Amino acid sequence: MPMVYNWQLGREMFYPYEEVRVGRQAAGIFNLNKCIGCQTCTMACKATWTSGKGQEYMFWNNVECKPWGSYPMGWDVKILDMLGVQKWGREGGKWVYKGETIFEASPENEISLGYIPNDIDYISPNRGEDEVSKPISDEDRFIRIPHQVWMFYLPRICNHCTYPACLAACPRRAIYKRGQDGVVLIDQVRCRGYRECFRSCPYKKVFYNHVTRISEKCIFCYPAIEKKILPRCFRNCIGKIRTFGYINPPEEADPENPIDFLVHIKKVAAPLLPQLGLEPNIYYIPPINVSNDKFITMLFGPYGVEAVNNYKKAIEENDVEVIGALLLSNSSMHVYTRFRVSGDYVIGYDDDGREVVRVPIQEELLVRPSYDPLLDVYIRNDV
Ligand code: SF4
Ligand code: SF4
Repeated sequence: MPMVYNWQLGREMFYPYEEVRVGRQAAGIFNLNKCIGCQTCTMACKATWTSGKGQEYMFWNNVECKPWGSYPMGWDVKILDMLGVQKWGREGGKWVYKGETIFEASPENEISLGYIPNDIDYISPNRGEDEVSKPISDEDRFIRIPHQVWMFYLPRICNHCTYPACLAACPRRAIYKRGQDGVVLIDQVRCRGYRECFRSCPYKKVFYNHVTRISEKCIFCYPAIEKKILPRCFRNCIGKIRTFGYINPPEEADPENPIDFLVHIKKVAAPLLPQLGLEPNIYYIPPINVSNDKFITMLFGPYGVEAVNNYKKAIEENDVEVIGALLLSNSSMHVYTRFRVSGDYVIGYDDDGREVVRVPIQEELLVRPSYDPLLDVYIRNDV
């Protein structure tokens, strides 16, 4: 197998194809501190793409509630358990993964470690919702930060990985990564439904359609992003937690690119399960209320706790650039690829340098006068 460089692992790794970095890679950042678990993203996606026959159980976007929720059931626990011990070390100022990836730990004659979930694993998409990490004791009745008893929502879509396991495993070469934006797609004509992608994707973001007998997955709403419009789940996010854009490798990080800025420069966002070796392109600002660093490290590698600390620091120090970049998150339906803080505003620009969104850094505070002389009424009764 060829060796490819995975910057999230800080080292080279085995992958069945040569390293090809697309011109620019579509990516996203989800701020878990703002997700309210409303499932609007889930429904926006479902209504758009998966309302047909055979798609009933499919959630290309789902939101699970950690620590107990998962869809399909136990997807993360199962693959981490199969992978065994996952260790990280620090070398030359960067994190280096010392364990095996799913490609390196693959059984003989398989491309990667994986499994096909049982039908029963798909029956409870909301399992564990709003269940907290442990029973509340007398001591826990007083809220301390971070919270001793905690939970948080984890929205998930396909990560449009740099090294997709679904693509690697497909014997028909029906899965491909688009050159212009790195979106991972299944060629519906070539696919014969062997379900190797379904078995290999550790995030379980490929679904098998039992009616058409071919596999399907999130397409990052490519018809929309080609028109510089956000994907449906981003556009409809009620909590405004989602930043869409394009990520560069760390050595080419552009401080005006909001994704590069938040991931590579300010390091406030971390990849999901980087130890699996796929270099996923959806990043998360982990929840600051969680007192269990081991849980955060399990989900986001060593980048997780680092991101929590950097995020808290940015808020405490009133870092207007970080705050500005986050305020722009799906504040408009248009894709912006550059941003700048100018005076009291943060502005997003498209590829052509056109302003597409402008948001005040500080919401204007309007205090209504208690007496309205026009109507001769008192609006408030506290005078
Ligand atoms: S998350 Fe799964 S389906 Fe999506 S690109 Fe990665 S391996 Fe493929
Ligand atoms: S729409 Fe946004 S806030 Fe609501 S569940 Fe989805 S990601 Fe979270």
